[in-house]
Amino acid sequence: MKTATGCTVISNGTAVIGTGAAPIKDATIVIRDGKIAYAGPVAQAPEVEPDATVIDARGGTILPGLIEAHFHPTYFNVEALEDLDIKYPVEYVTLLAASNAKLALECGYTSARSGGSLFNIDVWLKKALECDLVQGPRLAASGREICGVGGLMDWNPDYRKIGMDGLVLLVNGPDEARAAVRKLVKDGVEWVKTYPTGDAASPDVNDHHTLCMTFEEMHAVVATAHNHGLKVTGHCRATEGIKNALRAGYDTLEHGTFVDDEALEMILERNTPVVPALYFELASIERGSEFGLSQRVIDGHQETLEGGAESARRILRAGGRLGMGGDYGFGWNPHGQYARELSFFVNYVGLTPLEVLTCATKTGAEILGREHELGTLEAGKLADVLIVDGDVIGNISLLEDRKRFIAVMQGGIIKAGELFRSQA
Ligand SMILES: [Zn+2]
Repeated sequence: MKTATGCTVISNGTAVIGTGAAPIKDATIVIRDGKIAYAGPVAQAPEVEPDATVIDARGGTILPGLIEAHFHPTYFNVEALEDLDIKYPVEYVTLLAASNAKLALECGYTSARSGGSLFNIDVWLKKALECDLVQGPRLAASGREICGVGGLMDWNPDYRKIGMDGLVLLVNGPDEARAAVRKLVKDGVEWVKTYPTGDAASPDVNDHHTLCMTFEEMHAVVATAHNHGLKVTGHCRATEGIKNALRAGYDTLEHGTFVDDEALEMILERNTPVVPALYFELASIERGSEFGLSQRVIDGHQETLEGGAESARRILRAGGRLGMGGDYGFGWNPHGQYARELSFFVNYVGLTPLEVLTCATKTGAEILGREHELGTLEAGKLADVLIVDGDVIGNISLLEDRKRFIAVMQGGIIKAGELFRSQA
């Protein structure tokens, strides 16, 4: 991905650095050749060359670009699980994924980690993003997900003679789990996404208290993935699935819904980041009946909402790390609404806006393994910056309204927001 050349100065705004430190009023950010050269009070800002480009933040908020830690570029606002794999051909889903990536960038998300993808689309989307062929967040790719046979993601009955090859690699036993990871290694993914547990979406045989992989399968996944330098995450709702994942050496947990005392201790001991992706649950409850979700499914989402909110709160309060990402791409939580996750964590879970922003920036970069170059407004890092007209700390929901974005920058280049539109 190209970076800017020359010098840009952003001034007249409050800077949220992303480290959790108090916001800096009347801040100045100096960007040189796509990297942050200075971020701090205007009074201590260095002299800049007279031909530097100046951006007026209009008294608004200057933040690190947001990071979506559970992004499904190929989920095309589906209305049923079954739609995820066979509704459209791979050619069309690839175009939809490129369009979703552009939308995420316009929503202020300058980086994202894929939470799983149809076929190998996110791997190639990442390549297209890296060479500026299409626009979107800097991406970490996951490719196909791994699930045990008969588990949450194995929904096509055998008589249909349709496998799940596009979306999921189905495994029986550690040998097949190893083979699946080896296939993903060849495909070029960076993260292996697995399904240790079920979900409220599948109340009959794979609900949120059901295990969908054995510990031996999960351990084989981790050993093989780590051997090749890949990281592993998993859809973990049931308490025993969470513990299996931690014992197997997972690098992050998705959801981490039903965390008991022992699981919390294990999370803290290993300092494993958890990505709760919780607004999805609330959206499923509020809008589920519009989309034909049964009352049983909605009740299950209510249980996972409450369990997930309590677990997230406990993890953060005990000093653990949370990433912000939200499983967007279903009819009831479509792409483009990513920042609702952040408002939700303030309004429903009870985190402060500053805590939520740290989760959505610094912790996101740590999950990506790119904390040395992304996630905070600090000298030496890439200038991925979001400038918002208004006080985001006073009202986190401003982030949901992209009309208020003055600029979304990647590597110092303005890619979206009002200044981008006025350049065009
Ligand atoms: Zn997901």
